[in-house]
Amino acid sequence: MSLKSKVTGLILAGGRGTRMGRVDKGLQPFRSTTLVEHVMRRLAPQAAGIVINANRNLPQYQAVAGEAPVLPDYLDGFEGPLAGLQIGLQYCPTELLLTAPCDSPFLPADLAERLHAAMLAQDADVALAVTMESEDGGEPQRQLHPVFALLKASLLPQLDAYLATGARRMESWYKSLRVAEVMFNDADAFRNINTLAELQQHERAPAPAAAAAAPAGEPDAMPVAEAQRIICERMTPIAATETLPLRSALDRVLAEDIVSPINVPAYDNSAMDGYALRGADLPAAGAPDVTFKVIGIAYAGRPCTQTPQAGECIRIMTGAAIPPGCDSVLPQELAAHICADTVTIAHGAIRTGANRRFAGEDLKAGGIALVKGKILRPADLGLVASLGIGEVAVQRKLRVAFFSTGDELRSLGDSLDEGCVYDSNRYTLFGMLTRLGCEIIDMGIVRDDPAALEAALRETSAQADAIITSGGVSEGAADYTRDILARIGDVAFWKLAMRPGRPLAFGQIRTEAGSAWLFGLPGNPVAVMVSFYLFARPALLRMMGAQSTLPMMQARCTEAIRKRPGRTEYQRGIVSAGAGGEPQVRLTGAQGSGILRSMTEANCIVVLREAQASVAAGEMVDVLLFDGLV
Ligand code: AMP
Ligand code: MG
Repeated sequence: MSLKSKVTGLILAGGRGTRMGRVDKGLQPFRSTTLVEHVMRRLAPQAAGIVINANRNLPQYQAVAGEAPVLPDYLDGFEGPLAGLQIGLQYCPTELLLTAPCDSPFLPADLAERLHAAMLAQDADVALAVTMESEDGGEPQRQLHPVFALLKASLLPQLDAYLATGARRMESWYKSLRVAEVMFNDADAFRNINTLAELQQHERAPAPAAAAAAPAGEPDAMPVAEAQRIICERMTPIAATETLPLRSALDRVLAEDIVSPINVPAYDNSAMDGYALRGADLPAAGAPDVTFKVIGIAYAGRPCTQTPQAGECIRIMTGAAIPPGCDSVLPQELAAHICADTVTIAHGAIRTGANRRFAGEDLKAGGIALVKGKILRPADLGLVASLGIGEVAVQRKLRVAFFSTGDELRSLGDSLDEGCVYDSNRYTLFGMLTRLGCEIIDMGIVRDDPAALEAALRETSAQADAIITSGGVSEGAADYTRDILARIGDVAFWKLAMRPGRPLAFGQIRTEAGSAWLFGLPGNPVAVMVSFYLFARPALLRMMGAQSTLPMMQARCTEAIRKRPGRTEYQRGIVSAGAGGEPQVRLTGAQGSGILRSMTEANCIVVLREAQASVAAGEMVDVLLFDGLV
């Protein structure tokens, strides 16, 4: 289920708005419409439905709300935000309520998404936005935004009980709940417009900060996370498996849990070269050194069956079974004195139990050694081998077909006619799919011609689990592809709030010959890679039945990056150890979506979140490491 379908948006327009005089803030004209309508437009893509809480001018609000309800407070004579929240929770038909004030026309497009992520991560009832803001140029302070909140609808009884005590303050109510605070970098996105002067100022010439906060993406562009969710929800693992000799299973997806048939290690053994003895014989505090007689020797693979008596020990090698009666091993370098057949030990050299590895310490017989869905790496092969298992069941390889589209494309070996480019996408796709462990079907270049495209899709749908195309999905180009895909499948054309990689087609191709998932990636060489990693890769992994997440870290950005909120940007970077070993990242020069060099020089992608504004040099940014990706 998508997040959007779980969220109802509540616009709080019920307050007094005294700072603007007795005017109704939400209805103030702003950039060719009203403030509340801006809020509505920004909330709508994040929620299944909207409700407006207003206590005056209900018909005007209803005109803005359209089908959505406009509800006055349930509680009389109290116009604070908690009364609005109460009616919002009473109405809320979904499990979550997202609130925003009617005078915040720049609110983040990923408000719900980010609040929800924190709510889940922290098992909270409420998630609130926090920004850093400096008053009059002073040190930035944490600023809580209690009216930008995501709440569980199940909180209503708690709110009713709180209001019944006569209490009215939102902040104090939150104090009684489990609250997740979510830091947003773009303080301007939460700016509300408090005075008529401010309103006019924004209206006439947006202040520089407000201009920076204006969304870069179109209001109907889909957030990346939403597209990822929709795609992943539709994917199911393929059922077919095969059994392979262990070595051939490298990089394959484990199809069944591996249960250990034995204890690993199978017997108690020594972690060191030294002397196995009975801990009870060690000298006590203040007692003189004790000299043990060495009565035998235990090698790895050649156990010693003698049982030492008091004052006796056995010379032992690493990995050798602990001899009967012994419970401790003195490493040879800790002996006070060693003679031909005696060893002298001082008090405190070791404790009882030292250097003894227990049977089953690594893995217990009957325990799960590796979980289904794991992509088998070298350590996993070793682990399976340590159990004495020589064959494993893995998922069959996914069959992925791919082709490039475009009249301007030339294959390697062809001469490059005027206005043409060599087809590079088929090589990056080949590499990415091979690394992912797919069986690939290279369909070559398909001309920008409806019949050729249809033929290619029909042919591949018979052979492949998934088809990846590049090019031909941008708005102009997509016109004819849309018709074909409507005929032979069920494919959506999305405009995503991201850069690079704005257009994406996703859906299913169904012909008499078979069906396959289609990922129509954009044509630009960097966009193709970024969209592959963000959308196709997780979907293909899911089809492969694999469990895999990408390593994400934070690094200090050594340079300023210009960015407008409203879309997620993926910039290519080089992460390295900075001063004191702290990770730092710089960009790889020009970031155009056709400049593949930016990708080859990079070792990571800098992810600038949808709501994020420009980054100043020295700020921390999210970084997606290529390790594991390429
Ligand atoms: P399209 O999405 O088809 O409009 O293509 C966008 C840009 O990407 C155009 O400049 C294309 O020439 C370029 N392009 C598309 N496919 C490829 C390809 N397979 N290899 C290299 N460049 C491509
Ligand atoms: Mg094209």
